[in-house]
Amino acid sequence: MSALTVTDLTVDYHQRGGGRLRAVDGLSFELEPGQTLALVGESGSGKSTVVRTLSRFVKPSSGRIALGGDAAQDAARRGRRAERRAYHKTLQLVFQDPFASLNPMHTVAHHLRRPLLLHGDHRRGAQLEAAVLDLLRSVNLTPAQDVARKHPHELSGGQRQRVAIARALATNPKVLLADEPVSMLDVSIRLEILGLLDRLKRDRDLALLYVTHDLATARHFSSQIMVMYRGEVVERGPSDRVILYPAHPYTQMLAAAAPDPARTRAQSAEARAQRIARRDGHGAERRESALDGGCRFRSRCPFAMDVCATRPPDLPTAEAGHVARCWLLEPRPTGASGAAS
Ligand code: ADP
Ligand code: MG
Repeated sequence: MSALTVTDLTVDYHQRGGGRLRAVDGLSFELEPGQTLALVGESGSGKSTVVRTLSRFVKPSSGRIALGGDAAQDAARRGRRAERRAYHKTLQLVFQDPFASLNPMHTVAHHLRRPLLLHGDHRRGAQLEAAVLDLLRSVNLTPAQDVARKHPHELSGGQRQRVAIARALATNPKVLLADEPVSMLDVSIRLEILGLLDRLKRDRDLALLYVTHDLATARHFSSQIMVMYRGEVVERGPSDRVILYPAHPYTQMLAAAAPDPARTRAQSAEARAQRIARRDGHGAERRESALDGGCRFRSRCPFAMDVCATRPPDLPTAEAGHVARCWLLEPRPTGASGAAS
């Protein structure tokens, strides 16, 4: 049974001065226990909106979010409050900014006691303190007794992020959402923190949604990658396939912008990205193309055809489990102008 099932999720923001921005458009995916799924895309593509909606900070305009497992189903039967509690116990978050996510007034132990008391099995006293120390050890913060007494300002960014991860684990969640969890940390410790998340995922059979704009770590730490462009998933598949053989011109552009030594086609893709970047000066045109129903990427796309202005293609299967939303991968429909003349 999947740990998290998202079906046709759409999120609109109401903008100042009227108007509406569709930040997430028809997103569907499933997340299994023990699986890491990476959600990648440039800034503004809607990744954080997905996370905010899944954590119920933002209300979806339509669609369904369902947690797996019997506990969630049981709680739902016991009413709204029980359902809410179970939801927030089962699904936890690690934020981008470890400096903002911890209260400077409180000790590390305080940060961990709270979720343990709220969602744990009603431990008190010595049992509670032991649980706090266990959590700190599980994220390699030792000696745990010393760390527990500290305040956030006494810790490095990496140590703070470990505390934030420990806090997320305190409720013994099944689903962990990590929104750019290392992008504010020193480059030298990023892999350590991602390695920690990876180990915790395996040890605890967590379902992990790893949100990032970094393709290299997405490939390394996740089995599947979903590429999002302006609210829409444009490509999805096994990580190696998506990064080594990107099918969508947008993914090709992202991959070229972040060269990976293992990627054989880097040279040609880089040249392609430069062409795309040159075309990318047309802000107004880009906004327009989001509204008129055509492919959203077409004004940046070096392969744009007439058909791309008509409607976005479905997500056709390029090969088993690897899909991309691009007309290049579709049989050309009859009557499309490229084929007609
Ligand atoms: P990402 O995390 O990929 O950078 P976001 O989900 O933060 O993307 O943003 C997606 C789009 O929604 C952007 O165009 C952003 O400007 C817009 N947006 C984000 N939050 C709000 C909000 N609270 N109100 C209106 N628009 C928003
Ligand atoms: Mg974001």
